[in-house]
Amino acid sequence: MTNDTPIAQANLQCTKCAGQCTFDPAMGLLLCGSCGTGHFIVVDGAVDAAAEQHYHPDLPHTEQPKFSPDRPYQCQTCGGEVVFQGQSISENCPYCNGALVECPRDESYPTLGLIPFAVTRQTAQSQVTAWGAARWAAPSDLGGIIAKGNVAGIYVPFWTFDSQEAVDYIVRYKVKSGDKTYYRSKKGFMRTFFDDLLVPASPHVTPLIRDGILHEFNPETLRPFEAAYLAGFAAERHHQSVREGLAANAQDKDILLRNRIKRHSGKTRITSVSYKTDTTGLKYRRILLPVWILHYTYNGKSMKVVTCGIHGRTFGERPFSMAKLFGMAAALAAAATAVGFFWGAAQIF
Ligand SMILES: [Zn+2]
Ligand SMILES: [Zn+2]
Repeated sequence: MTNDTPIAQANLQCTKCAGQCTFDPAMGLLLCGSCGTGHFIVVDGAVDAAAEQHYHPDLPHTEQPKFSPDRPYQCQTCGGEVVFQGQSISENCPYCNGALVECPRDESYPTLGLIPFAVTRQTAQSQVTAWGAARWAAPSDLGGIIAKGNVAGIYVPFWTFDSQEAVDYIVRYKVKSGDKTYYRSKKGFMRTFFDDLLVPASPHVTPLIRDGILHEFNPETLRPFEAAYLAGFAAERHHQSVREGLAANAQDKDILLRNRIKRHSGKTRITSVSYKTDTTGLKYRRILLPVWILHYTYNGKSMKVVTCGIHGRTFGERPFSMAKLFGMAAALAAAATAVGFFWGAAQIF
């Protein structure tokens, strides 16, 4: 079986010396590993990468494209066999190390936009090491274990979702009158909207990691998909259809809606919220965002530390030292006792 997907390879080679080029985050160029020449990346000016797509379940580009899990390809430089696996669309030839990028032709592909890496490997590595060294109540060997690992750059698939919501709700809340507590209900109606809810579409990034590294997202910095941005980096396509992405976002959206309803109701001491929402104007983007990831294992548990490839914000999964946590709890209790004692002493004398 062969790979019938077009593969970018020749245009990732140096026009001066035919050497292998990779994308350089510091300069934003395709840089030749042999002669050091930088090549400008030309994108299709007619494509608006920040454009949003209207969601309709029957449109073909909302579907997850079909592809076989193993897609072999013969390297045009050295003849070696490269296999694209699963969602991967960017590989390096294991024989000549040349960058190879799949450019599939299915319907969803033209809707793919990306933000190129701007943070270099060195910066990401030192960010991750500093993060590991500065963890509160961490086991004493944690910093050293993280410092020994290496970051890997990957373009991770994300969705952005927009929607308009017309919400009918009921909040239940407590009122106190004298020493009695009563429960009351209030019905209300609220219009609200969501703009660019970012949803990870790969198991590499959990919603927790997303919140740790991506505090703001600027769609203006999106570029049209171009193989050169991926050269030398791993990259994945979306693991879901748009419908599945929306379902994955349902829980986050529910939490946001409940918080907005509480504010809108003007009530405090709310004990429960129920609502029905009419969602219209659903729009989405299918995008790739740059992320540096370091995988490490602690006590047999695999964890990761992640640096955002756009501005370097770093966040990770980490173990706690129970001994240090107990020590801190004991110190806090001792401090409380000491304060109590002196307070008592001041009262006596
Ligand atoms: Zn060159
Ligand atoms: Zn090769």
